[in-house]
Amino acid sequence: MQLTTRGIILRQTKTVNDMRMLTLFSERFGKISVAAKNDNFRGKLKSSLATRPFTLGNYDLYKNRDSFRMGRSETLRSFFGIGEDVDRYMEASFVLEFTDKILEENAPAPSIFQLMIDYFDALEHRTREMSFLTTVYQIKAVKILGYSPHLRTCVHCGKEKPDYMFHVESGGAVCPDCARDNGLIYHSDSDIIDKIKFISKSSMKELEKLYLEKQSLDEMNSLIRRYTRYHLDISDLKSESLLLDH
Ligand SMILES: [Zn+2]
Repeated sequence: MQLTTRGIILRQTKTVNDMRMLTLFSERFGKISVAAKNDNFRGKLKSSLATRPFTLGNYDLYKNRDSFRMGRSETLRSFFGIGEDVDRYMEASFVLEFTDKILEENAPAPSIFQLMIDYFDALEHRTREMSFLTTVYQIKAVKILGYSPHLRTCVHCGKEKPDYMFHVESGGAVCPDCARDNGLIYHSDSDIIDKIKFISKSSMKELEKLYLEKQSLDEMNSLIRRYTRYHLDISDLKSESLLLDH
């Protein structure tokens, strides 16, 4: 059966017999494994371009029971600017690997698919502090998956208080009283909760030109990494060790 879907390649590995195995994030079927011939990757044909990284492609797939085989592909949009800059490249590589980890196989995730396109688009236009957009991506992906931190009231006592701190393991906002009673060590940036709320309700496009102060950015990046690692059970991302500012 032949099917067509838009998609972004998350990962590819060479296998035997001139073949490769692709992990394709498809719009229609979610994350799927697709067998492709090396020929799909060669030559100057337009169809070979859709197998480059950071490319939105249109893919013809042949489905046989639970496996997919790649047919023709064409490039819908190539995010050239990402591959041409080392910071952009590393941030986007992290997002591909992160997304590969959070998606279940064969489960459509159209909101995250669109989020990734918006992220690539914003990243291509941004000129510095690329890591901020990666943090935005993670906050939004976590929200789509239903793992958003609880930020409206204190996670421990449930009360509304004038100010909170963010505590990763507790899953969100903790008031100073509960933090003291539980011996929690928490964050120094008292605005961080307002910043996360603002990011959650703004679009990637709106955030594309927002810049935080360096200390604030570093704190936010490290906090979101720790949050996703703890609550989504994500660890040891290969691309993470390459990031300069984590
Ligand atoms: Zn409390």
